[in-house]
Amino acid sequence: MHIKALKGFKDILPQEAALWQHIEGRARDIFQRFGYREIKVPILEKTGLFARSIGETTDIVEKEMYSFADRNGESLTMRPEGTASVLRSFIEHNLHSERPLQKLYTMGPMFRHERPQKGRLRQFHQMSVEALGVDRPELDAEIMAMAWMLLVDLGLKVSLEINSLGCQECRPLFNKALLKFLADSKGELCPDCERRQEKNPLRVLDCKNAKCQAHYVNAPVILDYLCSDCAAHFQVVEDCLRDLNIDYKVNSFMVRGLDYYTRTTFELITHDLGAQSAVGAGGRYDGLIAQLGGPALPGIGFALGMERLVLLLTADGGEAPGDIIDIFLAALGPAAGRRAFAMLHALRLQGLRAVMDYTSRSLKSQMKQAARCGSRFTLIMGDDELSSGRAMLRDMASHEQREIELSADLRAWSKAVAEIIS
Ligand code: ATP
Ligand code: MG
Repeated sequence: MHIKALKGFKDILPQEAALWQHIEGRARDIFQRFGYREIKVPILEKTGLFARSIGETTDIVEKEMYSFADRNGESLTMRPEGTASVLRSFIEHNLHSERPLQKLYTMGPMFRHERPQKGRLRQFHQMSVEALGVDRPELDAEIMAMAWMLLVDLGLKVSLEINSLGCQECRPLFNKALLKFLADSKGELCPDCERRQEKNPLRVLDCKNAKCQAHYVNAPVILDYLCSDCAAHFQVVEDCLRDLNIDYKVNSFMVRGLDYYTRTTFELITHDLGAQSAVGAGGRYDGLIAQLGGPALPGIGFALGMERLVLLLTADGGEAPGDIIDIFLAALGPAAGRRAFAMLHALRLQGLRAVMDYTSRSLKSQMKQAARCGSRFTLIMGDDELSSGRAMLRDMASHEQREIELSADLRAWSKAVAEIIS
């Protein structure tokens, strides 16, 4: 039996990869408009980095990480998210001394041992964006506006939900009120929530259980407990979103599954992915850089899930953009094949995307091949054409054909062809 890919690990085949490149290309363009620069960080890190940042008692750290002892016995982890690695790098290379506001993004695979479902994999890919060094609420609104701009640019309809989780000052007050509410709810909560409240009571609010959700309608609301600084911050975030005409909804139940968030959190939600409704999520993490041994600087970030974007963009049967070939050389017979071989290279030197398939199959089957690879033009060359010094150029969309002079001066010839088909 042949070996198959691991469960939850997926090949991205060429047809789909074209769509990935399109999404990544739009993202790079838009991130650059906002002043973000790319950073590339390793996939493997010391396990402690994630335990310290994401939180020891989160689902990710407790049961989802791909961790192993390497040959020296050190515990390493395949990164489950991007922020921890980017911050590690930011601290290690003193990037804060270079500019007061560092705007960084990275793209790549993440690993979590979850139950695979549609839109939920064990190796998945994120575009992860961080703005480090500034705690102004304008930046919160700006980063949400950037995610929004990308999703709109891609033609997606999503809704933005925001919340504030407060800070070290006010969250404990809320936690206390919530714990009291939970104590009064004994016996009415699912086992997960019973367990969660001991470690991080906030996280019960994120429970997917319908009975728990119905119960939490009467739970205290975190926004009522914000200290005046956090409340003012949240107010400006809302005002700024309104300035930019960005629709949003305040969702006081949104708490996120990572421990490091403070103040603003947000999710980009779609109703077209079933249970996997978030295409992206993020928030502020003002204590995290210091917690990782860096300077006491604030930060905010978000991550978009590539697989979910791809699912959304192909959901309504929409075709992924095919590969684009400018010209297919259909050479018939061995002499034509050899001649085409050098012509092909000359066309590529002109910047054209030019292919042939070396099969010397029938004209019909080569034409089919040309159509299949999305070629705009086909150059048909048989031994007859060669002896008359001409070949036939076919426009694959309009089916118009015209004769093209061949020439031994391949540079001049390919330049002329490039002009004709551009
Ligand atoms: P979810 O609630 O769907 O589990 P999450 O809160 O764990 O998401 P984050 O850690 O904030 O998600 O990651 C941000 C984005 O990354 C998600 O909105 C989603 O699009 C994507 N993502 C997270 N986990 C997976 C996964 N296992 N497979 C595919 N995409 C994922
Ligand atoms: Mg998750």
